[in-house]
Amino acid sequence: MPKVASRLEQIPPYLFAELDRQRQEAVARGVDVIDLGIGDPVDPAPPRVVERLAEAARDPAAHRYPSYEGSPRFRRAVAGWYRRRFGVELDPARQVMALIGSKEGLAHLIWAYAGPGDAVLVPDPAYPVYRVQTLLAGAEPWTLPLERGRGFLPDLEAVPAEVARRAKLLFLNYPNNPTAAVAGLDFWEEAVAWAREHDVLLVSDAAYVENTFDGFRAPSVLQVPGATDCAVEFYSLSKPFNMTGWRIAAAVGNAEALAALGRVKTNLDSGQFTAVQEAAVAALEEVGEPFVARMNEIYRRRRDRAVAALVRAGLAVEPSRGSFYLWVPTPGGEPAAAFAARLFRETGVLVAPGSAYGAKGEGFFRISLTVPDDRLEEAMRRIEEGFRP
Ligand SMILES: *Cc1c(COP(=O)(O)O)cnc(C)c1O
Repeated sequence: MPKVASRLEQIPPYLFAELDRQRQEAVARGVDVIDLGIGDPVDPAPPRVVERLAEAARDPAAHRYPSYEGSPRFRRAVAGWYRRRFGVELDPARQVMALIGSKEGLAHLIWAYAGPGDAVLVPDPAYPVYRVQTLLAGAEPWTLPLERGRGFLPDLEAVPAEVARRAKLLFLNYPNNPTAAVAGLDFWEEAVAWAREHDVLLVSDAAYVENTFDGFRAPSVLQVPGATDCAVEFYSLSKPFNMTGWRIAAAVGNAEALAALGRVKTNLDSGQFTAVQEAAVAALEEVGEPFVARMNEIYRRRRDRAVAALVRAGLAVEPSRGSFYLWVPTPGGEPAAAFAARLFRETGVLVAPGSAYGAKGEGFFRISLTVPDDRLEEAMRRIEEGFRP
């Protein structure tokens, strides 16, 4: 066998691998493992969405290659959602494009814009895709540290002029994975102004834009006047509609950026199954906000119980206003991987070490609220009763 490409060798080692190994070993020993590490809802997709998929799959027209940019119906449904939810007008033909999940779109946008000599501004901690794809594309990821003292919002003024000149893309993600921080419209206004001044494409990863609590409603970057001149947003059905396995999302905003992304995509994929797009139309047009509100109420209740239990156990966690995570400082600043391993050994509860999301995630761990209530209760009971942080 030949050696893999050198570009593959520069990908950092997968930090969950060791925990995963420990988990498999524990399961084999008969330990009742509770996995709070993965952010993947166990609750099912809305029944109407499943029905619509089955119905649409019976139409032979859906069995042929789908359109590259997404079906006109899907693109109109996304534009309709943006009008109703955010008050944002989009041209479905030029400013909305279907994706096979937003991860795919985020990754390929980097290939459309960044190569050797270019810089890509990447938050730390962050969803690993931005950084790893930047490296694969041969460009330089420039770290934007997210500090607790700034509400995990980056200080864009701290980016050196020389880096800003070479920067092509600025990745931002609020509500944020993994820190659970949220951003208001004032932050997006600053970010748009910065992107415009430096001729950088602002990329808003809006995976959790619908998952908010306590009356807070997360804005879209496109609510900033003129944002479509310099911004694209990735809107995914995965998290709000429990559809992570369905692989359906949309890129919206700047038409030139979508055309560039489309040039990459037409050369390597052939679009999402039309029946899945039809099911997504049902999610947006028939199921909509009441379903999302019900899920958010479930996450809020789990959040409150988990926060109360963790505080009783001596951990300094604050309730999040967005995403379905809790971002918790380790006791006494214990290294995240060591803490996660110790917690797992003593309780069988698996959490994600913050260091898996970047150097700035060191000293934190992430808990996901996507497990059933009784499993979360049991995990919290074990932490409260059997564990000395
Ligand atoms: C889950 C997640 C995604 C991926 O969503 P898909 O549409 O399922 O690919 C993107 N960004 C962040 C920050 C996420 O947590």
